[in-house]
Amino acid sequence: MKKILNYIGGELLEPVSGAYLDNYEPATGNVYAQIPNSDSGDIALAVERAEKVQLDWANTPRQKRSDILLKIAQLIDENHEQLAEAESRDNGKPIKLAIRVDIPRASANFRFFATAILHESSDLHESDQEAINLTLRTPIGIVGCISPWNLPLYLFTWKIVPALAAGNCVIAKPSEMTPMTAFLLSKLCIEAGLPAGVLNIVHGTGAKAGHAIVERPEIGAISFTGGTETGKKIIKLAGPMFKKLSLELGGKNPNIIFDDCDFEQALNTSIHSSFANQGQICLCGSRIFVQKGIYDRFKAAFVEKTKSLSVGPPHLPETKVGALVSKPHMEKVLGYIDLAKEEGGQLLAGGKQVVPDAPYDKGYYVAPTIFEGLTPDCRTNQEEIFGPVVTLTPFETEEEVLNMANGTDYGLSATVWTTNLDRATRVSKSLNSGIVWVNTWLFRDLRTAFGGVKQSGLGREGGWHALDFFTEKKNVCIKL
Ligand code: NAD
Repeated sequence: MKKILNYIGGELLEPVSGAYLDNYEPATGNVYAQIPNSDSGDIALAVERAEKVQLDWANTPRQKRSDILLKIAQLIDENHEQLAEAESRDNGKPIKLAIRVDIPRASANFRFFATAILHESSDLHESDQEAINLTLRTPIGIVGCISPWNLPLYLFTWKIVPALAAGNCVIAKPSEMTPMTAFLLSKLCIEAGLPAGVLNIVHGTGAKAGHAIVERPEIGAISFTGGTETGKKIIKLAGPMFKKLSLELGGKNPNIIFDDCDFEQALNTSIHSSFANQGQICLCGSRIFVQKGIYDRFKAAFVEKTKSLSVGPPHLPETKVGALVSKPHMEKVLGYIDLAKEEGGQLLAGGKQVVPDAPYDKGYYVAPTIFEGLTPDCRTNQEEIFGPVVTLTPFETEEEVLNMANGTDYGLSATVWTTNLDRATRVSKSLNSGIVWVNTWLFRDLRTAFGGVKQSGLGREGGWHALDFFTEKKNVCIKL
């Protein structure tokens, strides 16, 4: 049985309480590792270690900080295969996806922010002939980073790296469902020579370890990615303490397909945007709106392609849809499938659990599922399912589809398929979401602002936005 350890003060440590949690392998449903069930005692230790080195790290020349972070990126690349295997085993995602997306994006996060700090500048305002104003940017001190299970190392590093690059010490908690790659990363940080105490990775549940991070007064900012309900709890706890908050929360994203789209591109990308990572990407387009002129043709082709997706053990190269992350999550997704039927949805594909041969027969597999005939305001079309379940809805006019697309509490991302540039611009402007993709999906440029509106979040990650979040601006006015 593998044992995961906390990374605190540069050491790999047992949890203070000595208590562990089971870590399940989604492909088989078996326990394969033990995770520290950390609590406020471990967070207190991490804060104590971070406090000792925070000023040293903040004053470390940026070239040196950059070199260390680049060394970690290099070590991630050198251990690419091992990390991808660990990610796939821990999360249930197809190994090919972990190889192609998760791990390369994690090392790209290190490279991007490690080099960004070498090119930073700050503002200077001349007040006529009388004074100059300098904008100084200083690290916050100690910050907390809490990440989810769907893109484990990729989203974990998306937070911790800008925080470290900006000169902060970090107390970070990966999801208790997928702790393995963050644990492997702690070993790489030691190997790269990251000074002890600068990054502390504490494993455990949200209710204990996560809560303890949010409530510590020494931790000045919380960067969180996860569910909207958890985001609300964090605001409630951290708000009165005036902590800086960056919250990346849930979504119920529209995928809008106009008659004049490039049909094959829209079709093929919609398969990915619906079912990649078993539909467990906050940016997946789970509500697909198709204009009436191509609705029947799109439906037929989309259903056919969906039925041909191979569902099964994540390590097999032919697997396109792996296992869901946990048994409770699979049960939640199957519950939504029942709900969609109760709400009058017609099932076009999937709609059931898949049971592969032993030893994978206890794994958490759900067939990619499509419904049509549901109203825009039913629960299936309003609530985040976060699994391989999408709905198809026809529309006639731009106005009609915009009303439906914007008609949820969420506003994370949207996708638009059209070859008409005027329409693309018009519709993009009217969509109430933080991100709009036109004729593409999940295209990544690390410089761009990333985040949602309404109940999808608060603040933006990416590029200077992340480095801004992890620093405080101070205006120094000098009389001439
Ligand atoms: P979650 O909210 O259950 O957990 C996320 C993290 O928060 C975990 O590390 C968890 O242990 C911790 N946590 C839970 N309760 C906590 C508390 N009270 N205090 C502090 N920490 C706590 O979310 P999840 O199930 O891991 O992830 C799925 C959700 O994340 C979905 O809603 C998805 O849309 C969202 N998500 C959003 C983005 C984005 O960029 N907007 C990206 C990925 C996932």
